[in-house]
Amino acid sequence: MKIVLATGNRGKVREFQQMCQDEVVPFSDLLGEMEIVEDGESFAQNALIKARTIHEKLQQHCPRSPYIVISDDSGISLPLLGGAPGIYSARYAGEQASDKENLYKLIDALKAKGVQHTPAYYTAAIAIVSPYGEYVVHGWMHGEVIDEARGEKGFGYDPMFIPEGFEQTLGELDEDIKSELSHRSKALALAKPIIKMLQKK
Ligand code: IMP
Repeated sequence: MKIVLATGNRGKVREFQQMCQDEVVPFSDLLGEMEIVEDGESFAQNALIKARTIHEKLQQHCPRSPYIVISDDSGISLPLLGGAPGIYSARYAGEQASDKENLYKLIDALKAKGVQHTPAYYTAAIAIVSPYGEYVVHGWMHGEVIDEARGEKGFGYDPMFIPEGFEQTLGELDEDIKSELSHRSKALALAKPIIKMLQKK
């Protein structure tokens, strides 16, 4: 069964392809670009909305080929800001905001609070939708955010995020280190046995 990724985010596609030995195809390769409205109230709800939408479309296009669709909804949360930006991480600086605009808005929020660093964590919810059922798993990465951007690696808020046990940001650290530590890789470790089980059906 083909594994299809319900994300158009290039950073995420690259990370999933790095972490999965099986071949994963972004949905846009099969269906073209499409906007999915993420109006859930949690990472899990938004991940399910994306995976269900793509699964339904694929079934309409190719009713005889079964697909496993996996989607990730993720974001960064700061206790200092009551959990923000959380599920709004991708549109923190506005609906069409770029990763850089979101990053600098969060840096400005820290500066406005007068702190140079504060605890933060990334959450990833991975939803798996298949003809044989739906599943959601979670992973987290804890650390702290700082009031400046350092390094060019990773994506999104990585240049301001220092994972627990490290002194450099994810923008500076090797991408292999992030692959081992990340919220997405932890959620994927839980998702893999589910995907394997579904592939055997
Ligand atoms: P989603 O595509 O709705 O899941 O949006 C996730 C947003 O959260 C991204 O646009 C990034 O801003 C942020 N984000 C999620 N995971 C990461 C990560 O691993 N590094 C940096 N930013 C992330």
